[in-house]
Amino acid sequence: MATETSPTLDPQDVAEQLSTRAEHLRAQLAQVTREDDTSHPADVLDLATKRQAAEQSADQATAISARLAEVEAALERIREGTWGACLVCGEPIDPARLEVLPLTTHCREHAST
Ligand SMILES: [Zn+2]
Repeated sequence: MATETSPTLDPQDVAEQLSTRAEHLRAQLAQVTREDDTSHPADVLDLATKRQAAEQSADQATAISARLAEVEAALERIREGTWGACLVCGEPIDPARLEVLPLTTHCREHAST
């Protein structure tokens, strides 16, 4: 048994969680973009509904992509060993904070940007 210092978050555990989350987001994204299928235009009303649905799924796709990018950026930081350090002051972010917000890039003090 390794006797490490104070209980810290294991970046590998977080990386696993984030990988799972990234997979889910990719699946969601694939689903949302697949719904953009307009191969069977029926009537005008249906087209309008479809267009609205397409706009909604485009919004969703944008939101999911943004989320996915954040998750992938966090995974990248874990790989590089820079995860958990504040981008402003470089100080280690409180593990309790990281546990709740694994995607955060700022310590509590610099979070309000
Ligand atoms: Zn900071």
